Amino acid sequence: MKDKFLIISGPCSAESEEQVFRTAEELKALVNPDFFRAGIWKPRTRPGSFEGVGQLGLQWMTRIQKELGMPAIVEVGCALHVKKILKHNINAFWIGARTVANPFSVQEIVDALENREITVFVKNPVHPDIELWTGAIERFLAAGVKNVAAIHRGFYPYEKTHLRNIPRWEIPIELARRFPDIRIICDPSHIAGKAEFLHEISQKAINLNMAGLMIESHFNPSQALSDKDQQITPNDLKILISNLDLRNPVNDDSDFKTKLYELREKIDVIDYQLIDMLEHRFKLVDEIGGLKKEHNVTILQLERWKTIVESRLNYANKDKISREFLLRILQMIHKESIQRQNDIFGLD
Ligand code: PEP
Ligand code: MN
Repeated sequence: MKDKFLIISGPCSAESEEQVFRTAEELKALVNPDFFRAGIWKPRTRPGSFEGVGQLGLQWMTRIQKELGMPAIVEVGCALHVKKILKHNINAFWIGARTVANPFSVQEIVDALENREITVFVKNPVHPDIELWTGAIERFLAAGVKNVAAIHRGFYPYEKTHLRNIPRWEIPIELARRFPDIRIICDPSHIAGKAEFLHEISQKAINLNMAGLMIESHFNPSQALSDKDQQITPNDLKILISNLDLRNPVNDDSDFKTKLYELREKIDVIDYQLIDMLEHRFKLVDEIGGLKKEHNVTILQLERWKTIVESRLNYANKDKISREFLLRILQMIHKESIQRQNDIFGLD
């Protein structure tokens, strides 16, 4: 599955034989995705909502693989699920956000594979902990699983936002830095929560060179038993995909490459200057820390901090640098300065 831009689609949940088949047939004809997805066992946060059809759905997925020639993918949450999908020769599985947060569950899923070859997709955990995501991938790699990929599905928003989950794009970017050979695809459906935001999220994922998209589809989204606001018809998926601007990670045009090289050289110089300036600034911060300790005054000097924020934000040209960004930088520098002065005072 290397190199090809992957499309995974299908309903949030398998609900009935008719629903999975109608959706799969329309998808096959209109989009021909690389995998047909459907949740068989649904990890619902609260009990009582639709929890999936269970293993009955596996027979439908096997039929789709055989009759429509589309590889199937389902979610597994425990060793028993793995045993059942292996028995039904399902081509791939993904581990959901709630399961990835539990290393015991991840390890029992890895162990249940018993060296059988299968394609595995690991979603990010619900909360923005890249170590859990990394750890889950490492468990599969350590067991010798070759086809491991990651799915970015956003993170639980502690504050209310227009999206269901916050993308925190810097986290999949860091995952890509840690695992340059692992494909990371995006799940815009669970980030967006609503069909209207799918295009925007999908395009952002493409702009970041993600390797594919997993988008939920249903032949009749308004009747879906789970996640109905974010599902779209196979035809709308086709339109969505045709409206996306696919991008290449590289371009061999020599003019472009020269210009990029020249600009990057300038950026390199500035980055080293920034580091030198910060080192210089922290040296002064340490000297002030010594003075404060000697004269027994508090580390935090609120008036000074207020003046710093106000004067720097006033100084900055709003059109060239956003005030929110500058404030975040100042806060980070101030936090580090306080930490250094705490060290000088001999505190933890
Ligand atoms: C799903 O893909 O239907 C699902 C339950 O996703 P997540 O684990 O990302 O919430
Ligand atoms: Mn869903």
